[in-house]
Amino acid sequence: MKKKILDYTKDELAAEIKPPFRAKQIYNWIYHKDVHNFASMQNLPKTMREMLEENYIINPLEAVRKEVSNDGSVKYLFRCEDGYTIETVLLPMKKEIKDEAGNIKKEAKYTICVSSQVGCKIGCAFCLTAKGGFKRDLSAGEIVAQVLNIKQDMNIAHNRRVNIVYMGMGEPLDNIYNVTKAIQILNDIDGLAIGARRQTISTSGLSHQIEKLGKMNLGVLLAISLHAVDDELRETLMPINKAYNIESVINAVKKFPIDQRKRVMFEYLVMKDLNDDVKSAKKLVKLLHGIKAKVNLIYFNPYPGSPFQRPEEADMEKFKAYLNDHGIICTIRQSKGLDISAACGQLKEKTANDLS
Ligand code: SAH
Ligand code: SF4
Repeated sequence: MKKKILDYTKDELAAEIKPPFRAKQIYNWIYHKDVHNFASMQNLPKTMREMLEENYIINPLEAVRKEVSNDGSVKYLFRCEDGYTIETVLLPMKKEIKDEAGNIKKEAKYTICVSSQVGCKIGCAFCLTAKGGFKRDLSAGEIVAQVLNIKQDMNIAHNRRVNIVYMGMGEPLDNIYNVTKAIQILNDIDGLAIGARRQTISTSGLSHQIEKLGKMNLGVLLAISLHAVDDELRETLMPINKAYNIESVINAVKKFPIDQRKRVMFEYLVMKDLNDDVKSAKKLVKLLHGIKAKVNLIYFNPYPGSPFQRPEEADMEKFKAYLNDHGIICTIRQSKGLDISAACGQLKEKTANDLS
């Protein structure tokens, strides 16, 4: 089987091909010029183009489905070389900026939510990805390719700012080697040049891996899927809590190096009558004491047969107000793409049903 060139950091590529300076040129063709066949890489010698053609592939993914939501979010289903499918979501946002003359104009800002594994081992009770079980880790190139394909498909100019969130299928810290490699490839100045500070790893709380990531000092941002404020409830929702309880997660976060201007995000999935009360908000304030945190409240997004319900808007607002009143920045995540079921694992499920 041919090797995947997107799996390579620039240094790794330079170590494999001769002369090494060609690595930068190849990176430029692929990531800056969106040229996805070796034959067209005109500044490379013909023999090298042939050698590359014979030994490497560029795009390891094929888009098999694309759904556009009324709110502009776009969900892709990609097929890997071995037939497994993964999903990726593009969330466009309009950002108001002032030009030199002081006029306010709206500029498109993009966030791409990428998958890190086919399925997931963690088995959270509320998550559709968990239901399909775990198949395998994605390679660094398969993670990078999600971004590359979407940028190309949506004609997103090279210099447009893009944020990456590792919040699609899978637990990124359970695939830390490939995920951190993808972060570095995406970050490369001769590649897509997406700074580590524009990339956020979301984790269910693998404490020792959080510490390991912190020691790597990549400058990446961290989001913790907390969802519950006491171990008893968290254990029933997220079995990982038996191995790494809330205290261990909080301790790992406290050690994590974070940019002065940034905060650790705590995601809190709100489920009706389960964790939506002010008492929980109160406990959350205590837990986050001493951490530069921000909280993102997420409406539980029900799916057929799901055991939980979407919370009431009034309860969400009360929860948020309590946190805000106690000095914690809190936002409510606008449920993007509900009409195309753009929450974790839901498009894949739909496609499987359609095809069966
Ligand atoms: N495994 C990582 C990242 C992927 S999950 C993690 O758990 O953080 C990304 C987010 O989707 C998590 O915060 C998860 O709680 C959320 N999620 C899962 N199922 C959901 C649902 N049915 N409705 C809304 N959000 C959901
Ligand atoms: Fe895995 Fe995250 Fe889903 Fe939990 S919420 S099963 S960790 S993908």
